[in-house]
Amino acid sequence: MTAIEEQQILITGGAGFVGSHLTERLIEDNDVIALDDLSAGKQDDVPEKSTFKQGDICNRDFLDELTDDIDIVFHQAAVVSVQRSIENPETCHEVNTDATLHLLELAREKDFRLVLASSAAIYGQPETVPISENDSKTPTSPYGIDKWTIDRYAQIYNDLYDTETVALRYFNIYGPRQRGGDYGGVISIFRDQALAGEPITVDGDGTQTRDFVHIDDVVKANILAATTEHTGEAYNIGRGQQTSIAELAETIQTLANTDSEVTYTEPRPGDIEESVADISKAREELGFEPTVSLEEGLETVLEEARGN
Ligand code: NAD
Repeated sequence: MTAIEEQQILITGGAGFVGSHLTERLIEDNDVIALDDLSAGKQDDVPEKSTFKQGDICNRDFLDELTDDIDIVFHQAAVVSVQRSIENPETCHEVNTDATLHLLELAREKDFRLVLASSAAIYGQPETVPISENDSKTPTSPYGIDKWTIDRYAQIYNDLYDTETVALRYFNIYGPRQRGGDYGGVISIFRDQALAGEPITVDGDGTQTRDFVHIDDVVKANILAATTEHTGEAYNIGRGQQTSIAELAETIQTLANTDSEVTYTEPRPGDIEESVADISKAREELGFEPTVSLEEGLETVLEEARGN
């Protein structure tokens, strides 16, 4: 993998799940500013060697100040909850779209590269799987619309103004330091249930599938995006394999070596039935190759809870 060295880097959402792992990976060879308002992130998760700045990405003066002399911005800050976006679309739009548009303006003016966190939520209920980048976009939540908007803006800024942008459409990321949420949250929930010897509760019949990708692979994807010549593009970032929720529950049950039973409850209304990324574009253009198997990745999550 192409290394990133001696760069001035800003990571928004630097105290969050993805942002803190990215900071940890990049801090050895670069100067990293981690920005976060701590609405969801924790300052304790930000590696000490980085410079932590607490503040809101909606504060334009604050963003302007922090982007002077920056080479690369990894933009992870967002209101990540689909449910919150449904309850309060306007606030989410301000954070997820308006603040990102301002960051794009700063990238245009100051000439830094912007790697953005997009989402599989932009596709909504897929017509076919695996989902490839050109498939239809029918987001079913304000969150999905926000992500689709910034994903397109990023491409258009590249086309119109030569601003270097890359959008990464994350599927279900999981790993240590993840705190619930709408995505890999299911893994932390099942883990906690399994380790407590409580029933592992699957929504519906568990045949719904997701593409779970480990945080270490997502960090690699970000580094490749920061160095690729293929700017103005969006890439699916998953493992490229679908796992049913029932299979996930059983795997965690086995790895945790627990007496917990897997139980099935009412299905969640509107739940997406099948989701898996076609990652061939990321493979071909970025050289992205996920290497963490589901079992290996789940072990890292179990180890975290066991305090190893
Ligand atoms: P996270 O909630 O752990 O991290 C987001 C961070 O942004 C938090 O630390 C939060 O405090 C911060 N933040 C929120 N609003 C802010 C604001 N106004 N100003 C400054 N900081 C603010 O979430 P994550 O899982 O690390 O997600 C990172 C990015 O990836 C997000 O953009 C999310 O939408 C996207 N994404 C994540 C997944 C996933 O599986 N985790 C999947 C698809 C897309």
